[in-house]
Amino acid sequence: MKLAKRILVAVLAVAMVAACFAGCSKPESSEDTEKTDAKTLVMATNAEFPPYEYFENEQIVGIDAEIAKAICDKLGYKLEIEHIDFDSIIPGVQGGKYDFGMAGMTASEDRLKNVNFTQSYATGIQAIIVTENSDIKTADDLSKGGITIGVQKGTTGDIYCTDDIEKENLGTVERYNKGADAVMALTSGKVDCVVIDNEPAKVFVEKNKGLKLLDSTYAEEDYAIAVSKDNDALLKELDTALGELIADGTVKQIIDKYIPAA
Ligand code: GLN
Repeated sequence: MKLAKRILVAVLAVAMVAACFAGCSKPESSEDTEKTDAKTLVMATNAEFPPYEYFENEQIVGIDAEIAKAICDKLGYKLEIEHIDFDSIIPGVQGGKYDFGMAGMTASEDRLKNVNFTQSYATGIQAIIVTENSDIKTADDLSKGGITIGVQKGTTGDIYCTDDIEKENLGTVERYNKGADAVMALTSGKVDCVVIDNEPAKVFVEKNKGLKLLDSTYAEEDYAIAVSKDNDALLKELDTALGELIADGTVKQIIDKYIPAA
């Protein structure tokens, strides 16, 4: 299937970036030199994506916020997080408005044309939400004809369903600004299913009666941090710090805190 190839290319691209860094020397550690004039890194995210990023008491919290904080602490940077539309993150990082983007973002082949990615820190699955008595039973049913699929605009769920289903005239895609809006459209019968990342999907299904997740999934992907193609120094710093936090178990600990093992 086309999807498998797409994911493989993305994984290879990420691996190539990582391999390039492996030969480079480690950046100077600032762990033990308390910086009073620490530079601030601005992270762009879309805090509508629990448990990776969401608002709690007007603060952006979640897996990405905590990993980003751990990376910045390690590197001696202050961290500022800005909440923007998901599809504005890549252009904002590309244009230098934000230092990096972290939003449960899939390191896809298409996005690699515009930004670079660190190594991956988590796996995402494009899951399918349906109503409890839906006729849709598997991912293949989505392209059986006449199905309307709700997605969050600009996400990989949108891109896959647009390319594989809508452009092939096998169904229709309705795009929403927020995943939660796509789910509302499902509960009110405006769409037949929602294709969205599995962790937010679980949260949405829990919060809305009458919905369920299919066992059959649409695609598997890798989440990574997006950095401007013009800022290799920062890419290298973030990637090295992230690699260390993966190796020492910090990333796993943060993920386990938000996603208790089933
Ligand atoms: N993983 C999906 C993507 O990168 C969705 C991310 C999101 O909605 N925050 O497109």
